[in-house]
Amino acid sequence: MNARYTRVVLALGSNLGERNDTLSEAVADLVDGPEVRLLAVSPVVQTKAVGGPEGQPDFLNMVMTVETTLEPLELLRHCQSVENKHHRIREVRWGPRTLDVDIIAYGDLESSDPQLTLPHPRAAERAFVLYPWSLIDPAATLNGTRIGELAARAADFPDLTPFDGFGDFNGVPTAGAVE
Ligand code: ADP
Ligand code: MG
Repeated sequence: MNARYTRVVLALGSNLGERNDTLSEAVADLVDGPEVRLLAVSPVVQTKAVGGPEGQPDFLNMVMTVETTLEPLELLRHCQSVENKHHRIREVRWGPRTLDVDIIAYGDLESSDPQLTLPHPRAAERAFVLYPWSLIDPAATLNGTRIGELAARAADFPDLTPFDGFGDFNGVPTAGAVE
């Protein structure tokens, strides 16, 4: 087989429902098929929702790297089909959503097409993308600058916290609790 694989960076976010379960399932869905092969998955970080309505739940964000034989727009459709599978509510732009999958980079491709802008136009200022990405791909750069450095400079960097797995705790005691 001599299909050509292109290296791709995907950013996933969720701030509604069982956020961590959604991210795990989305990772599996995205690489469920021979066209997309998993390279690396970042830890999950927790971030304040940026923009949009006040008072929406915190986001969980993560980044994964894959290699794919899909063309850029085919990959976008694939990402959107995984979003749709998990979308139950999508009312307001930048409002709460069960799952958002963005293509951060597709090889070295540069595109100003509004349907698929590459690299993602807001990635360079979003610590919630740059920081988890830097953990799995420390040598990566955007506009010639190391992504770890861009992360540290980003306005939302101080709002990032590691996700400890208890963020979806809904107030019902579990381990060690009184029955
Ligand atoms: P956002 O991710 O900006 O919060 P959406 O997920 O609703 O909002 O995406 C809006 C549109 O952005 C999509 O329909 C898609 O065509 C377009 N888009 C442009 N560039 C990209 C990219 N790099 N990755 C994902 N979507 C993109
Ligand atoms: Mg999106």
